[in-house]
Parts: sequence; C-alpha cells; structure tokens
Amino acid sequence: MDKRLTVALVAHDNMKHDLAEWVAWNWEKLLSHRLVCTGTTGRIVAETLMERRSKDAANSRFDITMLKSGPLGGDQQLGAMIANGDIDMLIFFWDPMSAQPHDVDVKALLRVATLYNVPTAINRSSADFLISSPLMAHEEYTPVLKDYTSYIERSLK
Ligand code: PGA
Repeated sequence: MDKRLTVALVAHDNMKHDLAEWVAWNWEKLLSHRLVCTGTTGRIVAETLMERRSKDAANSRFDITMLKSGPLGGDQQLGAMIANGDIDMLIFFWDPMSAQPHDVDVKALLRVATLYNVPTAINRSSADFLISSPLMAHEEYTPVLKDYTSYIERSLK
C-alpha cells in the first residue's frame, strides 16, 4: 500500500476549473491520501471526487478536511498546519492574472511552504509531476528541514 500523505489543495476562483479537471484525472491517486482544502476549493474537490467514485463503487471513501475559505482565513489556517508539520504536500493553483483581496495571505502561504520545504505545485504541470513522483510512496523520504536554531537563539540585547 502506498504511503498515506496529507495533501493540501487550494485554487483561486479562476483556477478552480483547472483544479477540478486535475482532481478528476488523478482521483484514484488522491483517494489514498488525506486531503486538506480551503473552503470553496474543498467543496469542488469533494463534488469532483463524489462524481468519480460513483463510477467505481469499490473506491468509495475519501478523507477531506475543509478549512475556512481562503480569503476568510483558510490560507492562514493552512499556513499554521504547515508550520506545525501537518502538511506533506501543497497543490496551489494560484491565479497569475487577477489581484486577490487576500494577497498577503497567499504570499504568506507560499512563503511558509517554502520555509518548511513542503513540496509545492503551483500549476497543473508541476502538480502532474508531483503526484506521479515515486517519492510519493517512498517510506524513507522526509524533506530536509533547515536548522534555524542560531536564528532563534540569536542575541538581541
Ligand atoms: P477558497 O480559497 O478555496 O475558499 O476559494 C482559495 C484561496 O485561498 O483563495
């Protein structure tokens, strides 16, 4: 059995159609992982998985946690989960063509994912590469975390 990861999925409104198509394409792989989504993305992901699973009753369960909607704090909730080490992978289809009301939260989410070395896909092709990586199933693989001890313990007096 494949390693069970916690995979976060987020898409801005103009990218939700792309994410739904990507989920429909990869639904069998996604079913074996825990999913965490911002609110509206989660609704679309759940609907897509339900449509797909009804075509194959044998694979009938999925594990999805829905946070608040991104602009209402969902991106920050997800960032906190990353800081706590609770997210193994981030699939984030952000919109390169529209300003977001919660742009600071988007930036913070991408920053914290980078800081904690979370494998992150920011478009469909990178998501395809991540989801098909042999490292998805590799029990031994854990991303290296940079040691920030000297930063935390720096003298400020
Ligand atoms: P949403 O949030 O899934 O609630 O639309 C996505 C986002 O971060 O903008």
